Amino acid sequence: MPTKTIAQLDVTNKRVLCRVDFNVPIEDGVIGDDRRIREALPTLRSVLDRGGSLVLMSHLGRPEGRGFEAEFSLKPVAAKLGELLGRPVKFPSNDCTDAVSAAAAMALKPGEVLLLENVRFAKGEKKGEAEYAAKLASDGHAYCNDAFGTAHREDGSMFAVPKAMKAQDKACVAGLLLMKELKYLGEALAKPAKPFCVVLGGAKVTDKIGVVDNLIAKADSIVIGGAMAYPFLRAMGKKIGSSRASDEDTAAAKALIDHAARSTCELFLPEDHVCSTHFSERDGNIEVFDGAIRDGFMGLDIGPKTQLRYAMIIKKAKTIVWNGPMGVFEWSPFRVGTMMVAQAMVDATKAGAVSIVGGGDSAAAAEMLHLADKFSHVSTGGGASLEMLAGKPFATVALLDQA
Ligand code: AMP
Repeated sequence: MPTKTIAQLDVTNKRVLCRVDFNVPIEDGVIGDDRRIREALPTLRSVLDRGGSLVLMSHLGRPEGRGFEAEFSLKPVAAKLGELLGRPVKFPSNDCTDAVSAAAAMALKPGEVLLLENVRFAKGEKKGEAEYAAKLASDGHAYCNDAFGTAHREDGSMFAVPKAMKAQDKACVAGLLLMKELKYLGEALAKPAKPFCVVLGGAKVTDKIGVVDNLIAKADSIVIGGAMAYPFLRAMGKKIGSSRASDEDTAAAKALIDHAARSTCELFLPEDHVCSTHFSERDGNIEVFDGAIRDGFMGLDIGPKTQLRYAMIIKKAKTIVWNGPMGVFEWSPFRVGTMMVAQAMVDATKAGAVSIVGGGDSAAAAEMLHLADKFSHVSTGGGASLEMLAGKPFATVALLDQA
């Protein structure tokens, strides 16, 4: 049975306690990329337009439950959301569970919105404490989870709060963004149009080993770039200079190479590399190496031959999932690999393929390259989409009501 959505819930005169993921980049009080806020709007409007009111919960950054810290305040988000919704957003207190917040929630009229302060200021959030969860649970007549970016974390507002509400026979439903994300990634994994190509890069190699392991059985090709490539190349006995490749990651990569060799999935690794003597945008000597990387140089982008080869593979695919840049795309000398891969995905999309960008830095790269609106789907959750790709179910979604 599919998960019940907010659209299927009668919200007239009801207060909906909605967990969103407004964890957006903020510098000096100014929001950088507001995509996570914009993507939540359909759910919020669905409640407000049908005569409901909203109590919103989110985290921002990683304060560790030590109470209010100005740098992690959601206040700028309340202002931005008000602008996007075209109506005021109340922001009553700097503690999401104090009496002021509770009273403001109780006083909401249909069509009104309130944003609680960062739930991670409360120590009960990470611990999922029952007393903390009960306080938040009493703020709403129903619960809605629209926080895909946090779906892999069983934090209080994601798990203990809906559990407490279910115990009180209150409805617990999924938001429209959460459903959209689960649909795109779920369908790509369950019945991908073939060929199915997975593109993996970035620096957090350990996080992606489970993904490769799970996808070897499903994908036709796995194309690897970024720092992720070097443990694989080292495991194959290639010279990688001073590129990153821990012993642990190299051993894991060796096991994945053996696993792929026993399957029909082809693993592709870079054959040439854009390298530098320093991990820096401008300070090092930059050279391209075909094959072996000379000692003293580290790989910071895939080389031109690899760029073309990867673009060809991607353009032939009918389903493409991408997680992790091909190089240090933040610095222009090492951006071309990521650009070529992103552009090939866009070209494939125009030719009818389904393309999914798995959040985090790949989504940031897509935005930077002005290509974000040219993919089939750009996820709002880097960590969450990786867990889905690794085949892990979300307990936070499983506990929601069935339709
Ligand atoms: P991740 O969060 O795992 O997707 O990693 C993204 C980060 O990986 C970006 O900040 C990139 O700059 C970085 N990155 C990509 N390729 C390399 C590389 N070859 N060496 C070091 N860092 C890299």
